[in-house]
Amino acid sequence: MRTVYRLLLLLTALACFQSVHAAWVSGEEAIMGTRISVQLWHQDKDQGKAAIEAVMEEFRRLDRKLSPYIDSSELSLVNRMASLEPLVISEEFFRLLETSLEYSALTEGAFDITFASIGHRYDYRKGIKPTESLIDRSLPLINHRNIRLDADRGTVFFEKQGVRIDLGGIAKGYAVDRGMQLLQRRGVQHALISAGGDSRLLGDHRGRPWHIGVQAPRDKGNMAAVLPIADSAISTSGDYERFFERDGIRYHHIISPDTGRSADNLQSVTIIGPNATRTDALSTSVFVLGTEKGMALINRLHDVETIIIDKHGKMITSDGLADLTQ
Ligand code: ADP
Ligand code: MG
Repeated sequence: MRTVYRLLLLLTALACFQSVHAAWVSGEEAIMGTRISVQLWHQDKDQGKAAIEAVMEEFRRLDRKLSPYIDSSELSLVNRMASLEPLVISEEFFRLLETSLEYSALTEGAFDITFASIGHRYDYRKGIKPTESLIDRSLPLINHRNIRLDADRGTVFFEKQGVRIDLGGIAKGYAVDRGMQLLQRRGVQHALISAGGDSRLLGDHRGRPWHIGVQAPRDKGNMAAVLPIADSAISTSGDYERFFERDGIRYHHIISPDTGRSADNLQSVTIIGPNATRTDALSTSVFVLGTEKGMALINRLHDVETIIIDKHGKMITSDGLADLTQ
């Protein structure tokens, strides 16, 4: 009896100790050309901080591997070499290419990482764009079928000279998912990781949902909607992040593979789904597809919902959105 009593006392003491030290811990850093922010609940503040640093290091690793702006990245190497002969690539890079091609098939080509064959000629910060004739001449380079993967040899080959790829439509979502895996392995149960427009939530905000805002595309700093969600991922693609305007045309970073030019049907697309790789790829895709085809796709898929803001600023939501946010 005495031992049981002592044990109970000890457990109570431990519980008090834990609740005194448990806390929300957060960190922020600029990586992958965007703001990475991590927030998590941890029993031990120092371990929480260490977990956040591990997530940041994973983002840095993926940036070094996937950035088109770093000459030594695997992506840059592939862009230099893969149209010469089949190139052996890392398993992780191979899987990312496979996933990208799966999204090309799912979206009838709206998601296409070879957009970069023309896309790399834009500099949105400097207001630089390719000439109309160069776009037209380069258009056959944009086609996911120009990418040949050989699973047995672990190689990639571009079937046309001049094909380039960029994983900007999926890399941040993938990095968010990888970061979340790291946190889960460390026993974290409540966390938010966000990389610009791509976020993932683990658990809830301790007893209540997380509240994630959807930016009003033409009213900086204001929200078009705030969604109460838990245990899911959410991505927004918009025409207001990276763009410049010339002669009344808005040139921005989401390229329609059919035209080689900025997709101009919508102002923003938000996707809510099970993981950030999926919501990232699908938000870019639906942005290209436009309201009708995009909504048809999302309503056909059972694990995702969407909020579309069309070019007139009108909000359209998918069939199951109300259920999801209740
Ligand atoms: P952000 O990078 O602002 O989070 P998105 O998730 O909407 O935005 O992705 C836009 C990025 O996707 C572009 O910067 C570019 O790297 C890439 N991209 C543009 N057009 C396409 C496309 N048709 N298919 C796949 N990726 C694309
Ligand atoms: Mg995206």
